[in-house]
Amino acid sequence: MFGAGDVRVIDVHDPMIQQPGDALVRVVRACVCGSDLHPYHSMPPSTAGASMGHEFIGVVEETGVEVTSLRRGDFVIAPFAVSCGRCEFCLAGLQTSCLNGGFWNDARLGTGGGQAEAVRVPFADGTLVKVDGVDAGTDDARLASLLTLSDVYGTGWHAAKRGNVTRGSTVTVIGDGAVGLMAVLSAKQLGAERIVLMGRHQVRTNLGREYGATDVVAERGAEGVALVRDLTEGGSPIVIEAVGHLPAYLQAVGTVRPGGVISRVGAPQYEDAPVGFGSLFGHNITLTGGPAPVRAYIAHLLPTVLEATVDPGRVFDLTVDLDHAPQGYTAMDERTALKVMVTP
Ligand SMILES: [Zn+2]
Ligand SMILES: [Zn+2]
Repeated sequence: MFGAGDVRVIDVHDPMIQQPGDALVRVVRACVCGSDLHPYHSMPPSTAGASMGHEFIGVVEETGVEVTSLRRGDFVIAPFAVSCGRCEFCLAGLQTSCLNGGFWNDARLGTGGGQAEAVRVPFADGTLVKVDGVDAGTDDARLASLLTLSDVYGTGWHAAKRGNVTRGSTVTVIGDGAVGLMAVLSAKQLGAERIVLMGRHQVRTNLGREYGATDVVAERGAEGVALVRDLTEGGSPIVIEAVGHLPAYLQAVGTVRPGGVISRVGAPQYEDAPVGFGSLFGHNITLTGGPAPVRAYIAHLLPTVLEATVDPGRVFDLTVDLDHAPQGYTAMDERTALKVMVTP
């Protein structure tokens, strides 16, 4: 990406093993994330550009001498964060706070983005998750669902876990993007009884109903808040905010029940937001959430994906090859695509 609205496909040097813990991964599927749209709207022009993409699955091509759990030919899921697997936060399952890791296209780690033919993966043992029995050449439907484990499914799951969704819960999910829909699916899997999905894009909210939403509220602002408060008899005990813009946060504050919890997983595009007597403090509301340590959730979520008892891969409604990645951004931006898969 060379600036707002300016995505190009260019040739770069092939990545190489640089550290003994590195692996080289040939990308089988990558995708465009809703969070890639934030720089797509705001990035200042840059001559160097930024390598894009933080969600990918692929096949290990080469490993450094210290890599023990992976070898050439292994199929792997790459979470959106690089993690060492050994520090106190990795061991606590909070890999997004790894003391040694970072992210893709990270200058400090020297990583590129996942919307590429191949990626150098630092701390390969701690970062990548190997999956046995996947045919990277043929298994299309399964690949789509596996790809969601690199971010959106794990992020939706994180939102529901942070919100303390349990059997019988009433949950409101704000946002009908891929993460919002994955939060609906996760809340359903965790036993939620009532799931209100706030979104106004009908194709998406219909998929949300299939994933478990019991009610859909298309209205926004005060009208949307009033409808949700009515549906949930005075406010939703758990609200998941899966957008990241201030109006969505205000929607969450408006719909949450006194004593309830707001779980945020949309990367906030704001710093100042109400937290005082008129909003959180006055009603003992818990604000939680953050970047999902998806690495910690993959082992738990993987079996249902492999058995196809859930089908998170349905969030992908447009596939482009790498050469047409810019069109993928356009489609996401214009909301003609829910989520875009990128093939080599
Ligand atoms: Zn993402
Ligand atoms: Zn770590």
